[in-house]
Amino acid sequence: MARAPSPATFAEQRTDEILTRAAAALGALAGAAARLEAELLLEQCSGWSRTSQRAWPERRLDATTATAFAALLGRRLDGEPIAYIRGTQAFWTLELGVTPDTLIPRPETELLVETALARGPAGTATVLDLGTGSGAIALALASERPRWRITATDRSGAALAVARANRDRLGLEVDLVTGDWLGAVATGSCDLILSNPPYIDGDDPHLDLGDLRFEPPGALTPGADGLAAIRTILAEAPRCLRPGGWLMVEHGCDQGVAARALFGAAGLVEVATLDDLAGLDRITLGRR
Ligand code: GLN
Repeated sequence: MARAPSPATFAEQRTDEILTRAAAALGALAGAAARLEAELLLEQCSGWSRTSQRAWPERRLDATTATAFAALLGRRLDGEPIAYIRGTQAFWTLELGVTPDTLIPRPETELLVETALARGPAGTATVLDLGTGSGAIALALASERPRWRITATDRSGAALAVARANRDRLGLEVDLVTGDWLGAVATGSCDLILSNPPYIDGDDPHLDLGDLRFEPPGALTPGADGLAAIRTILAEAPRCLRPGGWLMVEHGCDQGVAARALFGAAGLVEVATLDDLAGLDRITLGRR
């Protein structure tokens, strides 16, 4: 792992040279995103937007900001996700607050939002987002469908506090409720049930790599069997859906076949798996 350059390396140096040096240090960890991450960290400690960093490459960093920048860079070089260091992650059209109590929203989860918008009712609808974390899915839908009545649940109170702060800052309407999957949900009440549940096998070596080491384990893996949470959702979803209502669940790229089998066994119809932008199986949907 690259060592963090000392603050003295950055004090009184030009912005463009600082960014080149920081991006080189981040190369092994961040790959093609190294320069972007360096700019984001500099933006965080200097207040200089990325645009202003580019427009004014000869501007020099004062000693205090240089120390702060070296500290941020050191944290990133220790593997801490850039989203947790900055406390924010872009998702859909929103900038969401995130903390180590929440999963970092992933771009592939936007497929779930897109699919819900495409297939959900055009008018009013009762919508449920299970295991909402930072509130990403529910808040994205609320920003697009003001007539939907959206409830988002999480069993983690700490995660719900993050979702609540995001909701209130964005001025969106979502009911946030403590809850574990569908046990407490009324029969025949939902037009649309969505979830990005934990789905990584408990013994998957990826859990010990990269950003995942810093994310809440309970948001990543349901335990030994990666399908356990999806099974729990399917045990109750047909009961909770109105006739014609949809269940849409994100899953691992190698879980499409198993997910379709579980949806079919639960009696849902029009079952299909959709690919994300990388061409990988990512969500399965089915209808009561
Ligand atoms: N998509 C995440 C990952 O593979 C996992 C998130 C989840 O389990 N819901 O890193």
